[in-house]
Amino acid sequence: MKQQFINGEWVVAADKNEMDLTDPATEQVIDTLSAGNAADCRAAIDAAYKAFGSWSKTTPYQRAEILKKAANYLRENLDNIARDMVLESGKPLPEAKGEWTVAANLFEWYAEEAKRAYGRVIPTNRPDKRSSVIYQPIGVTGIITAWNFPAYNPARAWAAALAAGCTVVAKPSEETPLSAIHMAQALVKAGLPQGVLNIVYGDAAAIGDEMLGNPLLKKISFTGSTRVGKILMDGASRTHTKLSLELGGNAPVLVFDDVDVDAIAKATAIARFRNNGQVCISPQRIYIHKNIYQQFADAVTGYVSKLKVGNGFEEGVNVGPLITKKQKESVQALIDKAVNEQAEIFTGGGMPAHLQSGYFLQPAVVGNLKQTSVLAQNEIFGPVLPLFSFDDLDDAIARANDTEYGLASFVFTNNLKTSIYASERLEFGIVGINEWAPHGTESPFGGWKQSGQGHESGSEGLYEYMEKKLISIGGL
Ligand code: ADP
Repeated sequence: MKQQFINGEWVVAADKNEMDLTDPATEQVIDTLSAGNAADCRAAIDAAYKAFGSWSKTTPYQRAEILKKAANYLRENLDNIARDMVLESGKPLPEAKGEWTVAANLFEWYAEEAKRAYGRVIPTNRPDKRSSVIYQPIGVTGIITAWNFPAYNPARAWAAALAAGCTVVAKPSEETPLSAIHMAQALVKAGLPQGVLNIVYGDAAAIGDEMLGNPLLKKISFTGSTRVGKILMDGASRTHTKLSLELGGNAPVLVFDDVDVDAIAKATAIARFRNNGQVCISPQRIYIHKNIYQQFADAVTGYVSKLKVGNGFEEGVNVGPLITKKQKESVQALIDKAVNEQAEIFTGGGMPAHLQSGYFLQPAVVGNLKQTSVLAQNEIFGPVLPLFSFDDLDDAIARANDTEYGLASFVFTNNLKTSIYASERLEFGIVGINEWAPHGTESPFGGWKQSGQGHESGSEGLYEYMEKKLISIGGL
């Protein structure tokens, strides 16, 4: 049984509840979780509050030593920890290894970046006055993360918060706690003091409520659905808890008729089905210029139908299972609704013929779609690639912007003017031009509209965990 981590000890939850941990590829129970609630979260906040006094006073150089050691420990154990990620999430082993590499890089990058949390000196309008701005760690931080990236999601927030000098109460997803546990063990081996990082899981709503209501906790960083993000905003409006929110997305892709159609179709098939489409920046709505629509549709359908679906441990598998039965059913329900709306399935949908169990869906390409389709208006978060056609630039941009979400968007063209015109008009926090990975440890990642508030990664991600203070000296 996996226990909670409170004040430097692995402990059983106060009311001794347990939850099963299931492998989505086999539907077999692989472990149990000691499932906590508000009381466990309160104990974790108390421990983090106690530890904040000394951790916040360490220098960024001292914190960097620990974070870099943890990064190296993760790199040394990559094979072992990646296998546990495949077990809990179903993703293919090479994707799991890649994710752990990025997680380790995040710890190293923030270890360095915190040394550069420069303030500034402000020239004043009086000779007897001096003003400066300094940054200080915000305090005890709650970090609630989703299952789609079991290591990357927590690493991005834990690394920045710890580097900034905050102490942390983490609540990883109950679907994927093993990666977070490995990360905590790496930090402990690296010398992280008792109470600086705590982990609770179990009753998510009760833990979230405790974080919101407890005055010792100053900030919640959340990665997950817009639905839960709204619950947290609602609660924070009463308690004034500060929030960073990384929520859902519904990324449009504009493909213009001057591109290498086959190359972009192939890359689209890979990008959309990475992590089975369970990615908040996953390219979801593909708007293709009408001159190349049919050629693109044929090519992408060919590539998608060749993707190998199966257990993430199997050699050559491109697409694993979805995370839960519920997730699989919700994606299949969207496909069924689209079919009722006269959409055409070019390939996929349903259980792959060669598999008997597991939460698998055959990767699907769907066309003949209107802007009002359920596949345009909802975040799918699954292995479905919807295709749309356009013939006017402004109309394509308007349709791309026609969503409540505003996280990532993509433009494919070799025309400089078109790329600049589109990128400046897309209402999204991230625009990828001729690339599928418009993110990095060093770059700010955040959404407009209902995709969230605040940023993760980059120097912006560090300042999310720091308060700005003006120090003004008079009478000099
Ligand atoms: P997803 O559907 O991607 O899992 P969720 O938003 O449901 O996204 O979950 C993201 C994280 O939020 C998970 O760790 C989950 O346990 C947690 N969570 C779910 N409900 C609540 C809640 N009411 N308050 C706080 N956290 C919650």
